[in-house]
Amino acid sequence: MSKPVILTGLRANNDLHLGNYLGALLPIVDMATQRAGEYQINLFVPDLHSFTTPIDHANLQKSIIQNLKMFVAAGLPIDHSDVVIYRQSYIPAHSELTWILDCFTGMGEMSRMTQFKDKSAKLDTDRISLGLFNYPVLMAADILLYDTDYVPVGDDQTQHLEYTRDIAERLNKKFGDLFTVPKAVKEQHEFFGKDQGLRIKDLTDPSKKMSKSDETGKGVLFLTDSPDTARKKIMSAETDSVGSVHYDYEKQPGVSNLLDILKLMGGGPDEFIGQTQYGPLKIAVADKVGEFLTDFQAKLAKVDEAAILSKLETSEQAMSGVASKKLYLVQKAVGLRP
Ligand code: ATP
Ligand code: MG
Repeated sequence: MSKPVILTGLRANNDLHLGNYLGALLPIVDMATQRAGEYQINLFVPDLHSFTTPIDHANLQKSIIQNLKMFVAAGLPIDHSDVVIYRQSYIPAHSELTWILDCFTGMGEMSRMTQFKDKSAKLDTDRISLGLFNYPVLMAADILLYDTDYVPVGDDQTQHLEYTRDIAERLNKKFGDLFTVPKAVKEQHEFFGKDQGLRIKDLTDPSKKMSKSDETGKGVLFLTDSPDTARKKIMSAETDSVGSVHYDYEKQPGVSNLLDILKLMGGGPDEFIGQTQYGPLKIAVADKVGEFLTDFQAKLAKVDEAAILSKLETSEQAMSGVASKKLYLVQKAVGLRP
């Protein structure tokens, strides 16, 4: 089993939303479908990453399984032997390698991470966890344990990938060849091809992206929302006072976001351009999103949970072997093992 590795994961801190579906689930499923055979696809649940920001812990187990079910509902080929799915916390090497990498990582380096700056800005200092600060190091361990070449990264993750390459090179230089250095961001983009810049905006505040950790969830279209709930959120989406539908993210971000959602849901935004009322556009978006949710939720209800659990078990066993081997190499290199 020495196929080149593509690795990707989705934080299970909450239910997934339409942005996650369009910007992550679908592209990951497409990628896995196309690349399995030639590549090994490591799709893991970063459960240790899920409480770097506060979550409802009583829901975590449910979210983890739900998250995987959604991948399967979106078409992930879990029967393929090149597709492995595993929970990060079930493979202790992730945490152990993180500690070692921590000791070769600078505070300054981590303080410059924009995701940390953004997420911590929303919290009181005592609620900014060390885990949030340390997040990129755990992510580097996730990647380096499996000699990963490719990681699909959006804008919010490119700095983390660059750090991963830096720390891998730093340790390789100090201790000899330990890690495969993942490809640079540019090569990642060439490899994955698709535009990874897609960002569905929050309906109540279109200046920010739809986010599953959003406090109220009012502007977030969750994949588990009923068509009715989704309709209410869409009908009260923030627009503007321009009074005419145009695609212009500067001046009309809310309307532009609705046009984008409509297009991505298979509707025709063109017929709304120039209309002086926003209502009909909203209704069209609500109809399309409603159809999509009905269909997706029907698929979700049919997903075989037992098949997921059994796939997890075999994958976790196999990946524990791979990860422990790598960890052992590192432990030896730093003098923890004879
Ligand atoms: P959180 O608020 O916890 O950061 P999130 O909704 O931003 O949640 P992530 O776990 O950070 O989700 O990202 C999961 C995947 O979904 C990533 O691949 C990310 O690029 C994609 N993604 C997140 N939000 C959007 C969005 N609004 N539009 C398109 N893709 C998105
Ligand atoms: Mg995010």
